[in-house]
Amino acid sequence: MDDNELICPFCGSRETKIEKETEERKLPFGPTFSYETTMRTCAQCQESWDSGEVGDESYETALAEAEIQSIEEIIEYLNQHGNSMAYIERALELPQRTLVRWKSKGGTKSGIALMRMIRNFPWLLDIAKNNYDKNIAVDELIKQGDLAYKEQREKFNMNVWRTNSESKNVAKVKVVSIKGGEPHTSIVETSTQSQHLSAEPIAVACN
Ligand SMILES: [Zn+2]
Repeated sequence: MDDNELICPFCGSRETKIEKETEERKLPFGPTFSYETTMRTCAQCQESWDSGEVGDESYETALAEAEIQSIEEIIEYLNQHGNSMAYIERALELPQRTLVRWKSKGGTKSGIALMRMIRNFPWLLDIAKNNYDKNIAVDELIKQGDLAYKEQREKFNMNVWRTNSESKNVAKVKVVSIKGGEPHTSIVETSTQSQHLSAEPIAVACN
């Protein structure tokens, strides 16, 4: 090893040592996997840095395993939603048994990207099956957009609880709504006369 790599770039000390750390990454539509990284730390000044001394084998190996598992999970999801492997292969004009191969040995990076797109928007398969006809694609897009919009509106519905009353006419209420998948809580003051409040959460449409 080059002697310079042992020297701390912050204080110039030679009292440095390699330390292993475990990091995690969540794969889209797949498992969370962990891998080892190495950092060099200085005993004198306590700084640590990536000295690039050890390769990325741990990451690449863990990633490859996680990708295989995610392909399995994506195919399983698509199967459960009425898209058999044979149908997916026909629609995408993939050679027969491509998906079986991806499930056992892992897919190419482009294959994995394709499967993630299909997992997000399974109706892309129908567009492919219809030879990518623009009119059919636009019709499907409008239909799916409408469905997604309705779903989002339901998510945006709020639950309202009375928390405590400060006066006859004003109550503090806790409003819980889902925004972008994250629960969002806020306390707002509202007139007790303009809005029905109850101990139980009541659904209030959010326009
Ligand atoms: Zn140092």
